Amino acid sequence: MDMVRRSSYKELETDVLVIGGGSAGVTAAIAAAREGVNTLLVERYGFLGGTSTQVLDTFYGFFTPGSHPRKVIGGIPDEVITNLKRYDAMLIRPNTYGAGNGITYNPDILKIVWESLAMQAGVQILFHALAVDVETDQGRITSVFLATKSGFLRVRPRVVIDASGDADIAALAGVPYESAANGPVQALTTTFRLLNVDTQRALQISKNELHERMAQAIVEGGYNLPRKEGSIHITPLPGTMATNMTRVVNIDPTDIEQLSWAEIEGRRQALEYFRFLKERIPGYENAHLAGLSVQIGVRESRRIYGQYRLTREDVLAARKFDDAIAQCGAPIEEHHSGADTRWEYLPEGETYHIPYRCLIPLHCDGLLVAGRCLSADHDAHASVRSMGQCMAMGQAAGIAAAWAIHHHTTPSEVSIPSLQNRLRQIGAILD
Ligand SMILES: Cc1cc2nc3c(=O)[nH]c(=O)nc-3n(C[C@H](O)[C@H](O)[C@H](O)COP(=O)(O)OP(=O)(O)OC[C@H]3O[C@@H](n4cnc5c(N)ncnc54)[C@H](O)[C@@H]3O)c2cc1C
Repeated sequence: MDMVRRSSYKELETDVLVIGGGSAGVTAAIAAAREGVNTLLVERYGFLGGTSTQVLDTFYGFFTPGSHPRKVIGGIPDEVITNLKRYDAMLIRPNTYGAGNGITYNPDILKIVWESLAMQAGVQILFHALAVDVETDQGRITSVFLATKSGFLRVRPRVVIDASGDADIAALAGVPYESAANGPVQALTTTFRLLNVDTQRALQISKNELHERMAQAIVEGGYNLPRKEGSIHITPLPGTMATNMTRVVNIDPTDIEQLSWAEIEGRRQALEYFRFLKERIPGYENAHLAGLSVQIGVRESRRIYGQYRLTREDVLAARKFDDAIAQCGAPIEEHHSGADTRWEYLPEGETYHIPYRCLIPLHCDGLLVAGRCLSADHDAHASVRSMGQCMAMGQAAGIAAAWAIHHHTTPSEVSIPSLQNRLRQIGAILD
């Protein structure tokens, strides 16, 4: 984009600009607005929730796995759950793979819950706006450019929170990162939901039996099922089951041509898994395809380099940090390019801390990241990316951004004890 045309863009000013309305971004925006700063939340789709409403229906990360589940996430995420309960739109489900109890919800109700909480907090929401460029001055983002139906907009923020999942803003601002270009990233999944399932009969098929039948169907029935251990679960909607089965591998989600191919391949696979369920699994004989995910689910794309990089060793050793802003007990869950999934667990009942420094990118002032684009290695990311932790990171980023504005400083100068005290006051569980 050339500078001459930029000068004629419509301009907006805000204290905090949050890019991306997913679990991390909405929570960040709510937290910042409640601290009394002007907050603009920008989302490329026409609803909030990100992966939580585009692709999925189960929050993980709220509880430690194992025989004595401990709740480790609190604060704004609790309000999300309370509101889902009010609509009778959630249930708690034990996770058969051992990721801990999941909170399964109706994603359409969740869209409304997210936007109600954001609006009550005073967040200004801009839907259908894609952040496409930034301007920086001496290592600080001075403008973020949005492509919209009303033309290009220039936003001048005091602090930016990149909650785009893909670290779009950090990458544009020159923050170093890891991606598919220089290491493995996890497989992508198109999810689908089925209605008119005889759930009583369907639930009699154990996880192992489902997987055995998948393997058998591939050999005997000529089914093309790349992942042999996908899962299917009940939802709050009677007779409706939701899946996590398809697997599209070796894709760089930041490469638009590869991502386009992945969308088509994901939907092709969804139909094939549906055919398998209908023809080979009792209870699905009269099922209908109720819906495909809004887009293919992206587990991992860019992971930034921040002031600290969470590692596989930190996760497996349940390491604690002085600048903790949240904790996580979820195992490493890697959906790699093979037919199975790799799981590695923390010691039973343990959690590790997520340090605030993982949200502060290198080489850019006035910027925080939150959610799945945090500073972590591939394996640590495979544990810390659950939606419970993304919300927890978001609320910390929002409070930190507001603190920086109130104290006329940058996020890297935020007082850690003040941030932690405020997080505890609003119900976050740090230890
Ligand atoms: C298939 C799959 C299954 C999973 N299963 C589970 C599960 O069962 N439970 C669980 O807890 N976690 C699960 N995860 C992980 C979890 O869903 C994600 O890690 C988490 O939701 C990420 O949240 P986020 O807010 O960081 O990013 P996202 O949810 O990806 O949100 C990013 C938001 O930013 C928007 N955006 C992106 N770029 C721009 C831009 N340039 N401008 C404007 N807007 C932009 C997007 O539209 C989106 O709304 C799964 C992930 C996948 C893909």
